[in-house]
Amino acid sequence: SIMPATLSAISNGAKHGILFKGGVHLENLSHLKAIAFDKTGTLTKGKPEVTDIIVADGISTNDILLHVAAIESHSTHPLANAIVNYAKKTLGESFITPESIEDVAGWGVKARIADVEWKIGKAKFVGIEAAEHFADGAAARMASEGKTVVFVKRNDLVAAIIGLQDVVRKETKQAIDDLKKQGIYTIMLTGDSQNTGKAIAKEAHLDDYIAECLPENKVEHLKEIKEKYGSVAMVGDGINDAPALATANVGIAMGEGSDVALETADVVLMKNDLPRISEAIHLSKRMNKII
Ligand code: ADP
Ligand code: MG
Repeated sequence: SIMPATLSAISNGAKHGILFKGGVHLENLSHLKAIAFDKTGTLTKGKPEVTDIIVADGISTNDILLHVAAIESHSTHPLANAIVNYAKKTLGESFITPESIEDVAGWGVKARIADVEWKIGKAKFVGIEAAEHFADGAAARMASEGKTVVFVKRNDLVAAIIGLQDVVRKETKQAIDDLKKQGIYTIMLTGDSQNTGKAIAKEAHLDDYIAECLPENKVEHLKEIKEKYGSVAMVGDGINDAPALATANVGIAMGEGSDVALETADVVLMKNDLPRISEAIHLSKRMNKII
């Protein structure tokens, strides 16, 4: 049975924009020793914008953008949306239709247009050698500014890189600082590159980060953190965060996250409001004292 103190704490939480799907989750918050965060859409707004396009010699920026947008218009990834929006603004609304297309979750997209093979995504997706051959330090510089770098491969050569900037939510740093003050270890798990991960983790004041996580890696890392610290929460918004949300002692979803994340989570932050986590932990500790 639910104790009156628990009920009143749950309803108090709901009034303040945090939803508990049961008293046990509220109680589990008081035992947390670590919290893992997804990057895109959780620590950041999840609305990246194109900031840089660098093309290889002899290649036209518009030609690259036209093909990349044609391909990315078939992907629902936030990076894809950003590139398509940028192309629409500069080149207009209509794109060519690729003959074939394959969305490779966690890596990028592959397509064929007029007998040309395109690969768009992270460095390891287009091939590290091809990526490094092209990038010439530019990719590393962008990543160190916290930008995500998308590599564009045209047949065998990397023909362009596109830099995209997402902003860290204005309340993120304070939310993380408050958790650290409560003695909680904070870590970011991201599919993005080492350099980008490092820059964002620093900006967001996290204790640590793990970059280049595939969705299944997030679960493995979470299990390791659980073992090391005893009790861990995961905070995420995406479909690919759902397995990690289910693995954590407490799964916390951003209210504007995907349906799957909302369904899988134990706790929902109704307004994407990260500072509510630390408040809820205080609430949970007070409640345990009363019981
Ligand atoms: P995150 O954890 O940052 O949300 P994902 O697992 O969705 O990342 O993707 C990891 C990386 O794969 C992205 O940072 C990006 O480099 C690349 N990627 C995935 N999908 C796409 C796409 N449609 N277009 C370009 N790059 C992509
Ligand atoms: Mg995300």
